[in-house]
Amino acid sequence: NLFSELGLPETLVKGLERAGFTTPTPIQQKAIKPQLEGRDILGIAQTGSGKTAAFSLPIVAGLAALGNERPAPRTARALILAPTRELAVQIEEAIRSFSAGMRVSTVLVLGGVSRYHQVQKIAKGVDVCIATPGRLKDLMDDGKIRLDQTRWLVLDEADRMLDMGFIKPVTEIAAAIGKRRQTALFSATMAPEVAKLAAGLLDNPVRVEA
Ligand code: AMP
Repeated sequence: NLFSELGLPETLVKGLERAGFTTPTPIQQKAIKPQLEGRDILGIAQTGSGKTAAFSLPIVAGLAALGNERPAPRTARALILAPTRELAVQIEEAIRSFSAGMRVSTVLVLGGVSRYHQVQKIAKGVDVCIATPGRLKDLMDDGKIRLDQTRWLVLDEADRMLDMGFIKPVTEIAAAIGKRRQTALFSATMAPEVAKLAAGLLDNPVRVEA
């Protein structure tokens, strides 16, 4: 029961060990391998389950596999949507720690703060964009970011995103990415509205529970 047995690259496993991650949590054990194999994921998991690493590590591994290829201007290779600024900030911190020593660029796209630095970073192209849906949709509508190159989409705490009224921007953002993406949707509950959203966005997903 080790990260190295899940098919993650050696550099990433070493970094995880330095961060004190030696044993994958149950959700990580179930969700990482299918994502490395290209599958969509429907994850039922609470905060504290280790879900952040469960969806982030396969993306970092996938980016590492692209080698020196860089993202095109105004694009993001991976997009992670979160309901709140606090959660988005935590996800970015986690990805930065997992990818320490690797060349992975991140941008936080949040409402309630200046767009200036967000737009500047995106202009160069980024590996991973972590966003709240409203602000991201604004930047899309203004032509500051395009998602046609995006290969990975994650919806974290999908139930909360729906509770907060983000259904419209979330579905519009997903539609802009197109079908050639890999998608993971995580939710603490599987209410009918979440199941409906998942059915629309996921392609033959592996269902995993913490
Ligand atoms: P999360 O559910 O993603 O918010 O993670 C909850 C906490 O568990 C965070 O502080 C993580 O840093 C930590 N964590 C996640 N996975 C592991 C692991 N495999 N080993 C040790 N700590 C972990």
